[in-house]
Amino acid sequence: MKFDIITIFPEIFNSYFKESIINRAQKKRLISVNIHNLRDYTRDPHKTVDDRPFGGGRGMVLKIEPIYKAVQSLKSKAKSQKPKVILFSPRGKKFNQKLAYQFSKTDRLILICGRYEGVDERVAKHIADEIISIGDYVLMGGELPAMVVVETVARLVSGVLGKSELLKERIPSKSKGFIEFPQYTRPEVFAVPAEARKTKAGARKKVYWRIPKVLLSGHHKKIEEWRKKHSKIIASRRLVSTSGGPNGSRSRRLKK
Ligand code: SAH
Repeated sequence: MKFDIITIFPEIFNSYFKESIINRAQKKRLISVNIHNLRDYTRDPHKTVDDRPFGGGRGMVLKIEPIYKAVQSLKSKAKSQKPKVILFSPRGKKFNQKLAYQFSKTDRLILICGRYEGVDERVAKHIADEIISIGDYVLMGGELPAMVVVETVARLVSGVLGKSELLKERIPSKSKGFIEFPQYTRPEVFAVPAEARKTKAGARKKVYWRIPKVLLSGHHKKIEEWRKKHSKIIASRRLVSTSGGPNGSRSRRLKK
């Protein structure tokens, strides 16, 4: 699976994609992440990527020409692949796990990161296949959203996590959302350091934070039941609303 990111701040991605699982996945050639500087697709000596908005107003808007050229050039380099072009905007469709599954089925994503006051709307209308928001807040650029999408989609690519069984286990078959339950690791009993205990009585009394006993039982069925009880299904509004009502977009507790 190939990710092409178009940005005016290519350096931002350097450290992030060189760490951990994403780095390993690239080395194993399971994914490739390529960063493209939008300024390389300009023709003027100043490498201008932005201009003032028509109609007036504050700030600058990313121009359509360099973005058009960048996308065309990337598309023409691998004609056999059918890339999906994604533009990031706070006005876009909300990104979620279901969309991540859909994206993971394509062999190539071209991600366009906006900056300043946004991107000439003709990019959304004529160039992008999907307009994606990562949440109802306004960031300064599409670079963080691009990292969010790359990471979420990459971990769904076969072989990236190394433990495909683990991934499968967490996907309830019907809803295609995903299950998350609480996890604990050693020590079984954490003794809270004395200086962290506020009241005088508390300072004398030792405080211990323990893990749920059932997890130590070795009883797989009981552990499974406990996990189910404490799990949340996290899925998109449409998926959950078939049983989750108008509040379907919220994660809901799994019934026992
Ligand atoms: N007024 C602009 C906001 C510009 S923010 C608009 O409505 O589009 C600058 C850039 O940051 C955007 O072009 C977009 O690429 C990115 N961005 C900001 N918040 C985002 C969010 N919640 N999700 C996805 N991209 C976002």
